[in-house]
Amino acid sequence: MPLLGCIADDFTGATDLANTLVKGGMTAVQVIGVPRGPLPEADAVIVALKSRTAPVAEAVAESLAACDALLAAGARQIFFKYCSTFDSTDAGNIGPVADALVQRLGCGFALANPAFPTNGRTVFQGHLFVGSALLNESGMENHPLTPMRDANLVRVLSRQTDGTVGLVPFAVVEQGAAAIRRAMTGLKESGRRYAIVDALTDEHLLAIGEAAAPHALITGGSGVAMGLPANFRAAGLLPERGAAASALPPMQGPAAVLAGSCSRATLGQIGYARDHAHTLELDVLARPDAGALLAQALDWAADKLGDHPVVIAASAPPEKVAALQAKLGRDAAGALVEETLASIAEALVARGVRRLVVAGGETSGAVVSRLGVAALRIGPEIDPGVPWTYAEPTGLHLALKSGNFGARDFFLKAFGA
Ligand code: ADP
Repeated sequence: MPLLGCIADDFTGATDLANTLVKGGMTAVQVIGVPRGPLPEADAVIVALKSRTAPVAEAVAESLAACDALLAAGARQIFFKYCSTFDSTDAGNIGPVADALVQRLGCGFALANPAFPTNGRTVFQGHLFVGSALLNESGMENHPLTPMRDANLVRVLSRQTDGTVGLVPFAVVEQGAAAIRRAMTGLKESGRRYAIVDALTDEHLLAIGEAAAPHALITGGSGVAMGLPANFRAAGLLPERGAAASALPPMQGPAAVLAGSCSRATLGQIGYARDHAHTLELDVLARPDAGALLAQALDWAADKLGDHPVVIAASAPPEKVAALQAKLGRDAAGALVEETLASIAEALVARGVRRLVVAGGETSGAVVSRLGVAALRIGPEIDPGVPWTYAEPTGLHLALKSGNFGARDFFLKAFGA
């Protein structure tokens, strides 16, 4: 029976949350999509949806179905996970999904906190910062799907809900868990449905987590989940487990890396791999043909598979990406690369690969779908936000890396190489 039931609005965000809970000593399993049938055994079950930019009605329906499955399995608290940059539009989906969950749980109130200080996301007087920049001056104002043009989260969330939104400011958060709890109770009693809660440090997040122990619903980024394992431990529900929470079956067998992210961190990691591992860089622009690229990759890898990873990358610098997009259109270019890498993953697994790193959020989604993964058991962290996972029912070890995560030597470090 899970202690904590989580609903994540995207895939790598679900892994990030699971990773945070495992570091806090909870066992965690990420389930792909609304669960059908019995849930896996774990202290925390994280349902990974693709609901961040889905139509509102679909996002609400899937989130409620996930909530019902988690409650039916016995979850004592529900966590709605969204991005640390509060990715959403005035139409949703954070407000409408949270409204539906508040109603389903009959709790009348939930806190909202996307802060992730380790990654530079902080909330002060209700305003979200990315590093030293306000959210609306951080580059997020140009996001293609969820442009964030207002850093004031009280206003942003107010536009997405028919409920009212209050603030628990920094000065209260500084005083600790008891003061935060009193402030939230006061807001609820005065009719507020939500409270944006300021947080500048991990200590603030731990205090907010403690204050939210009795809440049926918590909404936020992975950061505010940091304080939750201690609540279950204090209630005698969670054993002292230490590192055992992240134990996975032994990792062995041929190793590979597939990169479809074109972000700066991933391009650097490919540059490092060039000097330290067998590395194939596919020239998608020169040969935009999935079958030919698959054949090239398999031919190249045939005599190289083993304990030392092979690295296959479709990633390219911005001018080459732009050229392929100009030739095929943005969506078709992305889909071609994602399908090519998914086919390569499938073929490498058929040829014996058991340990696989995938770089890129969308790319990871395509690979995991193709491999028929139903759930990911979360293991030890390689770099901040990226754990090894054990993919059921395939028996593969997978590490799914959001494009901008990981140090330069990530691809080799992952395999202890
Ligand atoms: P990130 O996590 O860095 O955002 P994603 O995998 O989510 O990475 O997104 C990268 C997108 O870029 C994917 O849709 C991928 O298919 C696409 N892509 C990868 N390589 C190329 C390329 N050479 N030309 C055009 N698009 C590419």
